[in-house]
Amino acid sequence: MTTTKCKVGGCTTFPPPVLYEQRLCLEHYLADIHDRTHAFARQLSNQETTKELEAAIVQFVVLTAAKIAVIGTQNPPQDQLLRGKLLNAMLLLADLRERAERNEKQEETR
Ligand SMILES: [Zn+2]
Repeated sequence: MTTTKCKVGGCTTFPPPVLYEQRLCLEHYLADIHDRTHAFARQLSNQETTKELEAAIVQFVVLTAAKIAVIGTQNPPQDQLLRGKLLNAMLLLADLRERAERNEKQEETR
């Protein structure tokens, strides 16, 4: 067990077990996913997709989706708003992966 609070300044929530490593509470973890997903999406639309970027995206999506699945099945939030955010994060990830794969297909036909 950890007694370390979420690393975001001013947050007093303890991270769930699956997020000890990140030291983020669920809410801030989901906010982080949101930010990173948008940063990747921006990179996808701004530059030519490299194998490195695509690999980074796929790895991020797979690892994050696995964590979200653990949270959703073992320790789902009671709060309706947070449940909605959890679902939304899953959809963002699926969308990001689809975009990365679509970019790759475009490259192949070029
Ligand atoms: Zn927090």
